[in-house]
Amino acid sequence: MEHPENNPEYAGLTVNSGVAPVSSVNPHLNRQRFARRHLTASDYVEGILKGNITILGQAVTLVESTIPEHQVIAQEVIEKCLPYSGNSVRIGISGVPGAGKSTSIDEFGIHVLKEYGGRLAVLAIDPSSERTKGSILGDKTRMEKLSVHPDSFIRPSPSAGSLGGVARKTRETIILCEAAGFDKIFVETVGVGQSETACHSMVDFFLLIQLAGTGDELQGIKRGIMEMADGIIINKCDGNNVDKCQLAATHFRNALQLFPLPESGWAPQVLTYSGFYGYGIKEVWDMVYSYLDFVKKSGYFDYRRAEQAKYWMYESINEQLMGNFYHNPTIADMLQAAEQGVLNGERTSFVAAKQLLDAYFALLH
Ligand code: GDP
Repeated sequence: MEHPENNPEYAGLTVNSGVAPVSSVNPHLNRQRFARRHLTASDYVEGILKGNITILGQAVTLVESTIPEHQVIAQEVIEKCLPYSGNSVRIGISGVPGAGKSTSIDEFGIHVLKEYGGRLAVLAIDPSSERTKGSILGDKTRMEKLSVHPDSFIRPSPSAGSLGGVARKTRETIILCEAAGFDKIFVETVGVGQSETACHSMVDFFLLIQLAGTGDELQGIKRGIMEMADGIIINKCDGNNVDKCQLAATHFRNALQLFPLPESGWAPQVLTYSGFYGYGIKEVWDMVYSYLDFVKKSGYFDYRRAEQAKYWMYESINEQLMGNFYHNPTIADMLQAAEQGVLNGERTSFVAAKQLLDAYFALLH
């Protein structure tokens, strides 16, 4: 067949002599100069207290690290920052993927910085990131305005670990951010279940973003999650979606009326807004700040924080006990056999659990 490639000159695998590969290391680069100095816990604390964002970021990386030596330094840094923490308002923002969290947080952040001043840290609890290998939350590019704002610090969710572990790290990161002078903390979480509880347990106000659907939006939302919300906001109230959003708001208001008044004494409000077009954002934040005034006056603000500290003490105990149990080499060996026994129906789950725990307790003696 007449085809240029049949010409011997073009025969498929003719290899031309190429250029020599270039070293991947720039020979002009003085590596010595760029080697990172190892900071001590005091260096981190000093940098954080000065509001140094680079050092704050490095300290958060330590908090997120699973390397034991990093954890030792991280815990020391957290301990030393603790007296300087707490002076912030912590807002949890939850919603299913696509609800408009990133778009809204970008607008919310710009609004609160403009209206109330101060500095804002946006953190995330993202239990799904382990699966997707990379955080789907907190991606800086998704918050275009905030990511270039001089008074904001955006930190994606730690990308590995159990929900409990990820949540604990977010809570510890809050402490570091507050010590660094961030007086507003947003904690973003994907509304897919357990993560809301974790988020709720570390914030002063829990904001639930909802969408108007086909009128049955209340079906898909768990009662427990509705009960956690201090405010429900219905996003995308723009264009030809306005009527639907208002109808959804009425449904939510009616549903909320069936619940007893929360412990805070504050009846959760339902508002509509558009994160994309910026409609109704002021009203959302007026609501949040009215709540904060209300609970600060009533004493519930401090009560909730104290209760949260207690909750985290128990969470921390539980997490460490579980870690100790599962990482024990003898138990790890026994677990496999026990699992098989339960699967084969040779042992009941309760008997298997008891045998393992008895063995564990015996090891402790
Ligand atoms: P997330 O997954 O919850 O973070 O949601 P995103 O912020 O990424 O938004 C999901 C999609 O909804 C994007 O295509 C946004 O442009 C769109 N969106 C977000 N807010 C609004 C809004 O207020 N109105 C409209 N019409 N679209 C919006």
